[in-house]
Amino acid sequence: MKKIGLLGGMSWESTAIYYQLLNRLARERLGGLHSADLLLWSFNFAEIEQYQSSGDWNGVTGLLIHAAQTLEKGGAKALLICTNTMHKMAADVQSEVCIPLIHIADATAPAIKKTSCKSPLLLATRYTMEQDFYKGYLAEHHGINVVIPDADGRAIVHDIIYDELCRGVVLPESKDRYLEIIARSDVDGVIFGCTEVGLLLSQGDIAQPVFDTTELHSVAAIDFALA
Ligand code: GLU
Repeated sequence: MKKIGLLGGMSWESTAIYYQLLNRLARERLGGLHSADLLLWSFNFAEIEQYQSSGDWNGVTGLLIHAAQTLEKGGAKALLICTNTMHKMAADVQSEVCIPLIHIADATAPAIKKTSCKSPLLLATRYTMEQDFYKGYLAEHHGINVVIPDADGRAIVHDIIYDELCRGVVLPESKDRYLEIIARSDVDGVIFGCTEVGLLLSQGDIAQPVFDTTELHSVAAIDFALA
């Protein structure tokens, strides 16, 4: 089994889910006492959030590259950036290491294509919903054109991620607000495009097919590790 390096802590609430999923998947595939072979770099998310909200993406790119190179030196054979938002610097990180970075959108796209979904709704941070690095990547590399919530919906989705989910706060009223946003969007699928959204919602809450990036990214990593 190949060792996977995780760039996590963004936030640790979702990194904990990655950790469980990766280990569970390894056990399911190999049986017995098998678990995943992992290296984790867990950032202090308060520091990362400062860079994000001040728009210092260059500064935070340097932190990610340093962590990625350290994981590579530690023996990782592939990297996961355990957040959709920080895939903004995926290409910069990939260019500074020799091991593959398993892109979260590459892990997600095949699941969307397996369904008849043509217009999935992207629930994510403001950065992921409004900037082009993620939507553009899905369109350019996979021919998938996502829909984003209206301005009011985007503000609600973003604020609930940072003010609640990344702090481990899961509220039924916030779930209702997400479901209202999905209901008023004309979409035939929903991408959980933030690795914490699965804390709040699941497929059972939503009629359309759901694409949970945390789960799909974890499966892609275990596929790589065991290939
Ligand atoms: N984990 C989230 C994501 O998938 C948001 C936190 C972050 O900005 O990294 O985008």
